[in-house]
Amino acid sequence: TLPPFDYTPKPYNGPLADEILQKRQKYLGPSLFHYYKKPLNIVEGKMQYLYDETGRRYLDAIAGIVTVSCGHCHPDVLNAITEQSKLLQHATTVYLHHAIADFAEALASKMPGNLKVVYFVNSGSEANELAMLMARVYTGNLGMIGLRNAYHGGTSGTIGLTGLGTWKYPIPQGNIHHVVNPDPYRGTFGSSPGGYAKDVQDHINYGTSGKVAGFIAETIQGAGGVVELAPGYLEMVYDIVRRAGGVCIADEVQTGFGRTGSHYWGFETQDVIPDIVTMAKGIGNGLPLGAVVTTPEIASVLAQKIQFNTFGGNPVCSAGGLAVLRVLDKEKRQAHCADVGSHILARLRSLKEERYENIGDVRGRGLMIGMDLTKDFKNKTPGTELAAEVFERLRDVGVLVGKGGLHGNVIRIKPPMCITKEDADFLVDAIDHVLATAKNR
Ligand code: PMP
Repeated sequence: TLPPFDYTPKPYNGPLADEILQKRQKYLGPSLFHYYKKPLNIVEGKMQYLYDETGRRYLDAIAGIVTVSCGHCHPDVLNAITEQSKLLQHATTVYLHHAIADFAEALASKMPGNLKVVYFVNSGSEANELAMLMARVYTGNLGMIGLRNAYHGGTSGTIGLTGLGTWKYPIPQGNIHHVVNPDPYRGTFGSSPGGYAKDVQDHINYGTSGKVAGFIAETIQGAGGVVELAPGYLEMVYDIVRRAGGVCIADEVQTGFGRTGSHYWGFETQDVIPDIVTMAKGIGNGLPLGAVVTTPEIASVLAQKIQFNTFGGNPVCSAGGLAVLRVLDKEKRQAHCADVGSHILARLRSLKEERYENIGDVRGRGLMIGMDLTKDFKNKTPGTELAAEVFERLRDVGVLVGKGGLHGNVIRIKPPMCITKEDADFLVDAIDHVLATAKNR
């Protein structure tokens, strides 16, 4: 059973899962995206836990896809957005509002180097869309380089940057080059960065005029299956891209705000400073919020046109985002991610070494963890059916995880940053139990 938790969910009298599913199928657009076989109706959330329509509690080990950073309905965030909502929900970002300015100041103080100019938007896709626009306007070039396993968004521009095949539409995408993924476990060139970096140079040499607008990468790939880029890769590639006139964009939508434990930003794990940083998800603890941070020099080219976003930096989202930054500092969540994350990683690694050949790889940092399941350990054949079974059966024992990777064979563990060590042990015990009894091993 789950560790004790002192909270009683409110009685739920709303519509039940089957009824909601019927409406969803009738009125919401269809999607290939996986649901649990038996639909799950989540009605309440409290810190690292979620409650379904029956009042059953689940350990949330995916945080609404790495979005709930502080914890579901964290009291400080709730208070900030409630108080701001009572005063002013929206006017226009053309007027002044202290919440927006305070939030921008707080965010800029978290950035290294000359990254001091903030733009607020409403999602990760929008952040990357704006970053691509900046890169193209600033450099006067069109070509963008991205990684084959990347996810950068679902808008018509960012779907082009996205490399992961499951998300892409077969429509023409000009001027976007996808390079070999620097994946130490499954990548063509193993864990050393040279071959992967050379592929970037080759794309520039043979696929462009020799000039590019920019390069974008998640510093640890999320949807692609928690892939840490080969060590040293970004340093080499940033150099190549800058020599070709391009700017370097770090997509921190999943990796930022201390989740990696070792650093506040994912790019710091590769010892680089990007020219543009995009963020979303964890920045708002569930509010629709994203941001782009860049240098005054790059920002100055956008000043030649009106740069406007109706909702970006809306007072309620800004008040919430500022509260998130404060909570993460006050509660020392980065150190906590390092501590609990290394505990989970160590325990999963001993399951891999001592018990389950099907665990091909355990990777990640802090509370951004992937378990790559295989059918055949030696050949690294993806264990897609096994991952699907583990995903479903973890839900049955009260744990919600994510799935990812090109073959859907990576179990993703990215809980709210307030998960406790007891929760972590429960999670690993649950994985152990499910793997021990899995049919698809
Ligand atoms: N970048 C990354 C790394 C992401 O994981 C996502 C969302 N999964 C996005 C961008 C797009 O963010 P959004 O869904 O908020 O548009």
